Amino acid sequence: MEKVVIIGSGCAGWTAALYAARAQLKPLVITGNQPGGLLTTTTIVENYPGFPQGIDGYELMQGMQKQAERFGARVQFGTVENADLTKEPFLLTVDGETIQTETIIIASGAGHRHLGLESEHKLENKGVTYCATCDGALPVFRNQPLVVVGGGDSACEEAMFLTRFGSVVHLVHRRDTLRASKIMAERALAHAKIKPIWDSVVTEVLEVKHDKVTGIRLRNLKSEKETVLDCAGVFVAIGHIPNTQIFRGVIDMDDAGYIIPKRGTATNVPGVFVAGDCADRVYRQAVTAAGLGCAAAIDVERYLAARNE
Ligand code: NAP
Repeated sequence: MEKVVIIGSGCAGWTAALYAARAQLKPLVITGNQPGGLLTTTTIVENYPGFPQGIDGYELMQGMQKQAERFGARVQFGTVENADLTKEPFLLTVDGETIQTETIIIASGAGHRHLGLESEHKLENKGVTYCATCDGALPVFRNQPLVVVGGGDSACEEAMFLTRFGSVVHLVHRRDTLRASKIMAERALAHAKIKPIWDSVVTEVLEVKHDKVTGIRLRNLKSEKETVLDCAGVFVAIGHIPNTQIFRGVIDMDDAGYIIPKRGTATNVPGVFVAGDCADRVYRQAVTAAGLGCAAAIDVERYLAARNE
């Protein structure tokens, strides 16, 4: 039986693992299907304190994992398919295997939000992608017009990254101002290769019948005018959806699926704690996720100590 299982291996998960390991709880970290979490899909992280020149996202996550492992954290590659939190010990099913545990830290993060278009779905990985860092360098995108959808930090970051490969990067946003932080927005809009298209939404990704992306159909929300824009790639960067589906109906969460902690990092189920993006619809930064991971591990340690008294 485990003392604590940490679900997720992003900033929150590895920081929780570091603190739990140092508290001699021998945490088991279940990686999820994206070991290292979303940060492994970014290039340079410039706002994690302690790295004045920035640090590669993948490298940062590798460092966090090694640091936690150094103190005894264990890692299991896999995805939690089911969680029975109705009785103790809790039962987690990971790729068909059952794990018993006294406590759980949910640090399952968030996945990419989709536009919800049928054509987007049909052309996924055929020119539609959700990660410029993962796919931007593919030959199919080289020296071609590209489209990024979104107006937040992710969209700006993706657009900046894609300027290395595309002939031009159209930044399609549904409003006339970016939501991104000032520094990211200014940087993106000042780039000669980035062309914003304001007040517009993608209504169709073309061309499903050719089985590859050749363009997009756009609607201007102010004029209602429809246009077609040629492009070889569509990079969707419109935010995230918390990975909390398996806890629905058991753990308290809001309508969007973000877990609502009850007190500190404790959820409504005693012994189940939460940290990081799956419970944070406001800040969603690497450093806030790490901070919450630390808090969750401390809460677990105190919970177990109180139970054993
Ligand atoms: P976000 O801030 O939630 O922005 C999502 C963007 O997508 C918004 O501009 C939103 O439009 C648009 N959008 C949402 N649904 C849409 C839809 N169905 N169709 C068209 N557009 C849609 O998400 P994010 O950019 O992924 O950032 C998430 C968090 O991570 C933020 O806290 C951000 O600061 C952080 N982050 C930081 C960095 C960095 O500092 N280097 C990099 C990446 C992310 P509206 O503006 O109209 O709502």
